[in-house]
Amino acid sequence: MTSNQVRQSRRIERQVIGRPTSDGAGVKLTRVLTQPLQRRLDPFLMLDAFGSDNPDDYIAGFPDHPHRGFETITYMIAGRMRHRDSAGHEGLLENGGVQWMTAGRGVIHSEIPQQEAGVMEGFQLWLNLPASEKMSAPWYRDFAAAELPRFVTDAGVDVTVIAGESHGVTGAVTREATAPLYLDLHLPAGARFEQPLPAGHNAFVYAYRGEVRIGAETLPAQRMAILANDAGADGVSIEAVGEAKVLLIAGRPLKEAIAQYGPFVMNTDQEIYQALNDFRDGRLAQ
Ligand code: MN
Repeated sequence: MTSNQVRQSRRIERQVIGRPTSDGAGVKLTRVLTQPLQRRLDPFLMLDAFGSDNPDDYIAGFPDHPHRGFETITYMIAGRMRHRDSAGHEGLLENGGVQWMTAGRGVIHSEIPQQEAGVMEGFQLWLNLPASEKMSAPWYRDFAAAELPRFVTDAGVDVTVIAGESHGVTGAVTREATAPLYLDLHLPAGARFEQPLPAGHNAFVYAYRGEVRIGAETLPAQRMAILANDAGADGVSIEAVGEAKVLLIAGRPLKEAIAQYGPFVMNTDQEIYQALNDFRDGRLAQ
């Protein structure tokens, strides 16, 4: 894509309100992308938003637990969390940093808050792996905020490119099979941001501060908009009503069967039983 101009924007197909839940050792969070939306938003499997200034909501963190078959991308807006995993990776994730972990054939890891007070806010996105890469070796990288590619548009939109490519800027991570785009957009009041998107890629927007307009519709804060795959649309145009902060996430669907059991996401039930057996027998993360 050479031009960043969008001729015709996608429209909002559906707005989704996240579901309050808890995970790990009792961390309160909002599940924005839930299991019933996995097919529609293929290759994305889950998006959790967490944000609280009450330590009781986050302090217990996520003690040792396994994953197999996909990637987890944690974006920390505020707060400090320490990651340790069975592949020997360790990292401190804080204030605007991103952690990208490819579980592949298996990791056991912990994600534990490193603060006893204050605000903890961020997101965890699950990105599926193609069948051919589900049993690949685990991979891990963390990026401090200053290491993430960033640019500011003429309209004053501050763009952090976590994955993919936007306006000629390549993100921290790129992936061939799913071609994920993951942008954090900070828009001044009234500013517009345009992003070309291949028509076949599934895309959604999550407004985490303020509200934005997409086409004729307004998306309020703390809502996700699933963007329609209109054949005639060549991207998305997002306009801030007041000051707004949104995530724009898109990717190429894998169109493969999805079999999920908790932290394992494979293609068949047989592969899920295998993952459970491997975990039970201590072979998951070897
Ligand atoms: Mn985890």
